[in-house]
Amino acid sequence: MSERDEQPAGEQPAGNTAGAAKQKTALTDCSDATVAELVTSLGGKPFQARQVSHWIWKHGVTDFDQMSNVPARLRTALAENHRVHSSEVHKTDLAADGTEKLLLKLHDNDTVECVIIPDGERTTLCISTQVGCPVGCVFCASGMFGVRRNLSSGEIVEQVLIARTRMQGERRLTNLVVMGMGEPMLNLDGLLPALQRIHDPDGINFGARRITVSTSGYPKQMAKFAEADPSYNLAISLHAADDKLRKELVPTAANSVAEIVTAAHDYFGQKNREVTFEVVLLAGKNDRRIDANKMIQVLRDVPCTVNLIPWNPVSEIVAKHGLGRPTEARVDAFADSLRDAGINVTVRRQRGADRSAACGQLRLQTLESSDA
Ligand code: SAH
Ligand code: SF4
Repeated sequence: MSERDEQPAGEQPAGNTAGAAKQKTALTDCSDATVAELVTSLGGKPFQARQVSHWIWKHGVTDFDQMSNVPARLRTALAENHRVHSSEVHKTDLAADGTEKLLLKLHDNDTVECVIIPDGERTTLCISTQVGCPVGCVFCASGMFGVRRNLSSGEIVEQVLIARTRMQGERRLTNLVVMGMGEPMLNLDGLLPALQRIHDPDGINFGARRITVSTSGYPKQMAKFAEADPSYNLAISLHAADDKLRKELVPTAANSVAEIVTAAHDYFGQKNREVTFEVVLLAGKNDRRIDANKMIQVLRDVPCTVNLIPWNPVSEIVAKHGLGRPTEARVDAFADSLRDAGINVTVRRQRGADRSAACGQLRLQTLESSDA
């Protein structure tokens, strides 16, 4: 396992030019006030700072040279110590159903995934918050090798800008889910400013009601997240209502199911938004009648929806832990039990099923192929 923690071969910094570029601050990581200070310090006017920001957030440009109404002298001066974006598309993977995974290369050659998921009129973008994940859920590719680092707010926002540019002319982004690599509650310092920028009418101008953040359950951080204005949707990855079983699936879980459910209640109380509980169903592990019954007991009085997610097999994990995807009949039976008890249930259809479908898999494959 540990050899995968090393910088993958073939993805080393490429010489001096890349080394020098690495030092440059990305403007996606700068506040408007910082950009204004920067522009005026370089002899520009405040309105030119607004033009620069407009190019970044409204037009999604990635190069100063594309900012055609900004004087060339100012563009050159800006480019001296800054760049617009710090990440770029490294690999893409398009599934037959239109789901497209983007593997983004960061300034330090680490990689993260984001996924564009078209579904009828809707187009959902799934974004990451960390390189890897420290939580280590046994079924998840993102957590297999731990966490390398948090993403900066700019790196989080760039995923939206890059995906939006990629879809241009074809589709409009309708939903944003923070369900990619990493545990969002463990990087609130990066996430909250990023969401602010994504929501801001002068930024990306994306409705907060269409943004959902998923956590594997950190009540303290959820309380802090609840203080954010505007209000975002919260999804909690529960997986099991029994503490012992949950701890088997989420080995680092420090909070009990009861504490997590209380946090969901609190979120509803504060925001008047129902929480979604996600349950990744694993054959014979947490998809049994007894598991459904326990979940009914725990969630009966919670204003919520339960989203059942049949596990997307990750071959390395199948080999190591012997986990499996449940049959449709088992998933339906689980859903019916909850529904009969009056709980709202949705079942997630598999998307991008033909290739590296699950969270973290494209990165995993890339790490493996460059390990040789
Ligand atoms: N760390 C956060 C958000 C990222 S994971 C969290 O765990 O909620 C987003 C969702 O994808 C979680 O519900 C997670 O359980 C689920 N997931 C991870 N790997 C999966 C897989 N192989 N198949 C199906 N769902 C998976
Ligand atoms: Fe981390 Fe979420 Fe994967 Fe668990 S499911 S390892 S919390 S990304």
